[in-house]
Amino acid sequence: MDERIPSEIETLRLLLVDDDEVDRMAVIRALRQSHQLLRIEETATAEAAIAAFARGQFDAVLLDYRLPDMDGLEVLRRMNARRSGSTAILMLTGMDDDALATQCIEAGAQDFLLKQEITPRHLMRAVTHARMRHGIEMALIESHERLRELAEQDPLTGLANRHFFDQTLRASIPRATRYGLELALLLLDLDNFKFINDSHGHDIGDLMLRVVAERLLEVTREGDILCRLGGDEFAILAFQRNGEEAVHALAQRLLQKLSEPILVEGLTLPVSASIGVALCPDNSEDADELFKCADLAMYRAKRDGRNQTHYFSDELHRQVMRRVQTEHDLRTALQHGDFEMFYQPQVDATSGAVLAVEALVRWRHPERGLLAPGMFLDVAEDTGLIEPIGAWVLETACADIAAGRLGSVPRVAVNLSARQLRDPDIVGRVERALRTAHIEAKMLEIEITESVLIANLEESLVVLEAIRDLGVSIAIDDFGTGYSSLAYLKLLPISTLKVDKSFLAQVPEKEKDKRLLRALIQMARTMSFRVVVEGVETAIQAELCRDFGADLLQGFRFARPMPCAELCRMLASFPQASRMLL
Ligand code: C2E
Ligand code: MG
Ligand code: MG
Repeated sequence: MDERIPSEIETLRLLLVDDDEVDRMAVIRALRQSHQLLRIEETATAEAAIAAFARGQFDAVLLDYRLPDMDGLEVLRRMNARRSGSTAILMLTGMDDDALATQCIEAGAQDFLLKQEITPRHLMRAVTHARMRHGIEMALIESHERLRELAEQDPLTGLANRHFFDQTLRASIPRATRYGLELALLLLDLDNFKFINDSHGHDIGDLMLRVVAERLLEVTREGDILCRLGGDEFAILAFQRNGEEAVHALAQRLLQKLSEPILVEGLTLPVSASIGVALCPDNSEDADELFKCADLAMYRAKRDGRNQTHYFSDELHRQVMRRVQTEHDLRTALQHGDFEMFYQPQVDATSGAVLAVEALVRWRHPERGLLAPGMFLDVAEDTGLIEPIGAWVLETACADIAAGRLGSVPRVAVNLSARQLRDPDIVGRVERALRTAHIEAKMLEIEITESVLIANLEESLVVLEAIRDLGVSIAIDDFGTGYSSLAYLKLLPISTLKVDKSFLAQVPEKEKDKRLLRALIQMARTMSFRVVVEGVETAIQAELCRDFGADLLQGFRFARPMPCAELCRMLASFPQASRMLL
């Protein structure tokens, strides 16, 4: 090993601590024999040594173990506690004591030298080695620090990570309780981040997350803890004295700060977030519970339309419990076969003939009675139970029309939800349902709500084309509520437009609404769609729709949704077979 002092060090700065002047002289003499430039400061007491150490920048300290005012180990510990940079410490002693040497090394000394063994060469080598050893120790400490940071830091944004968050949340609750503070947990999830990632790639997504992290940092105050939990999810822990108002202000600031579009690599990306808030001790004093509360509130904010804050409340808790109960009951209902198929006629606007029926599912709940889809379909959709329910609906509708249980009605329309549309086997399911029931494809129509179509346009297109290729017609349901553009309409393989019932609500009273309804119907006709108007409740509405050019009408004016048997009875009762009164 090269035993010279590293060349970049011009003058070696040493602190020599020894109460014995003769010993000091001997050490200095030995040191001076090297070719190294030296600046040596001498002190005779521990007190003076600690003061000098605190003042000066030394490359090494030569510290006599036996000092009049303090134990050598104690001096070493004190120096060690204040040691900031690169100072190595060598203990000097008159006794050859292995146990003591070990103690000194453990207390932070880099070497232990016997005074009687000191030779110039030996001493300089010891100083050099001590400095090197110290350098290595410092590097090790640094890399440990870095490892700890990595374990606690999110490498993308530099914010604290989930591991740190979990620990901090657990530690913060007793602290808040002890000081009588309120602890607010805000969970923030970006809206539509998946869309950014999918459409612009992960690099852009990452850049966006960094900007978001910076903005959130600007808004949070000192003392607040901001973490990235993963993906596009962030958490903020804030201690509050004046409770909900301060939390509300913070949430507002967060949403406001995020609202400005983000500019990355020439792209202008819209950004917004949904925030869920839970408070300790109000909502819970348990870390896991508190997190769940904030999480539920955040999901609620998403469901309510995103870009907003929702606070956990007992009411939300009750709603969640109701949903959990509904999910449980739905599973039982699937096993027991508690669903029923109702059908509502669609009549020809001019002749009154029933040209189709729409299949509308009902749930016969053992305690709550007959439930309309609005009471359970959202839970079924969220939990995936819509798939078995939807499959039952599709098979039952096909079987009913095949078996003549719908009288002589030539076509049945079945609704498909967003989740069903995403089912990779949906085309296969439709095909099998037709085959099993031995019915022609033209006897089936599939209805898809406009907003669902627009949200998944590209995937929908492929699936719908495959369904259309089977010979099954496709209807856009609730048309006019999903903001689809005419360009989309041209693109999709649709044959039927079902004008949403909301367009009829104020007809004929409001002239404007009447004109809007007419424009919608005429536009759809111009594009050669079959036009069905839903929610026709009065004779005047029926007449207007016919005059405006609608092909089919559906609504309470003609019939409510009803079971097969009732439908057949009703159809048979008309003077002209299957013709309804217009
Ligand atoms: P939708 O497909 O738009 O069905 C029409 C809804 O309007 C039905 O409600 C029907 O009872 C109601 N309706 C019919 N005529 C009138 C009227 O004159 N006035 C008023 N105010 N309402 C009328 P329902 O049966 O409660 O179904 C609600 C929604 O649930 C349906 O809307 C459909 O989106 C969904 N749905 C129903 N059955 C199924 C199903 O089997 N699968 C799926 N995925 N969704 C279904
Ligand atoms: Mg429908
Ligand atoms: Mg509809």
